[in-house]
Amino acid sequence: MPELPEVETVVRGLRPLLKGRRIRRVEVRQRRRFGVLRGSLARFRRVLTGARIVSVARRGKYIVLQLEPAANQVAPLWWVIHLGMTGQLYACPAAAPRVKHTHVVAWLSSGRQLRYRDPRRFGKMLVLRDTELAGYFAPLGPEPFRISLQRFCRLFRGRRGPVKSLLLNQSLLRGLGNIYSSEALFLAGVHPGTPAGVLRRPELRRLFRAVRRVLREAIAGMGTTFSDYRTAEGLPGDYQNSLRVYDREGEPCPGCGTAIERVVLAGRSAHFCPRCQPAV
Ligand SMILES: [Zn+2]
Repeated sequence: MPELPEVETVVRGLRPLLKGRRIRRVEVRQRRRFGVLRGSLARFRRVLTGARIVSVARRGKYIVLQLEPAANQVAPLWWVIHLGMTGQLYACPAAAPRVKHTHVVAWLSSGRQLRYRDPRRFGKMLVLRDTELAGYFAPLGPEPFRISLQRFCRLFRGRRGPVKSLLLNQSLLRGLGNIYSSEALFLAGVHPGTPAGVLRRPELRRLFRAVRRVLREAIAGMGTTFSDYRTAEGLPGDYQNSLRVYDREGEPCPGCGTAIERVVLAGRSAHFCPRCQPAV
C-alpha cells in the first residue's frame, strides 16, 4: 500500500511531465459500483476537459493537481487522487499499450497520456472547488516534515493505544502506514505495542527523528515495492531492499542478530526486534 514516500515519489516524477500541460480529453471506465471516481462523472469530465495543470503536489497520501479550468468554467479547481492499495498513476506515450485495470486516461497537450490503473479499486479520485479543498483535508493530522517536536510529543500524551496504531492514525499524523511506522519504531528502539501515553520525552524525541529519517531514506530510494506500486515512470521502487524489520519475520535483526518477530495490533501486523525494542 503506498505511503508518504511512494506518493511523494510519484508526485516528483509526474510534476515535470504534467505541469503546464493542458488536458485535451478524458476517458473514464467507471463501474456502477466500487468505481474509483467519487461524485458525478459528467462533472468530472466537464471540469477536466480543457483544463491546464498548474501544480502537482502531495498532501499526506493524496496526490493533488491544481487545475486552471477551461475558459467557460469557474476557477480554480483541484483534482484529488488517492492510490488506495494498488493504484498506479503514471504518464506514458499515447501509443503505449493499455494495460488491464486502467480506469482513467487523460490526453495531455504534450502528446502523452496520464493513466490511472488500479486492479483492486480501493483508490479514489474526485474534483473539488477551491472552497471545498481545506475542508476535505481538515480531518488529517499534520505532515511529518512540518510538525514540531513539541507538537509531536503532544499527539501521544494520555493515549492508551499502542504507539504503532497511533502512528497509523491519519487524523493524528498524515502519511504513515504499516511499513514506515514499523521501521521508525525499530530505529527509535520502541516496542510497537507500547501504550503511547507512557513514552517519555527521550523516546518520543528518538521516534520523532526516526519517522523523518525513514521517510527521507525511502523517498531517496524511490519508495517500497512489494507488488503494485510503481513510480511515475512505471518502475518499481528500491527501498524494499533497505527495510530493517518490515516483512522480515524470522530474519536476523540488522542491529543485534535476534530473529525479527511479528505481532498483530488492532488488526495490523507489526514487525520488531524483541531485543532492540523490548516490551515495557
Ligand atoms: Zn535487534
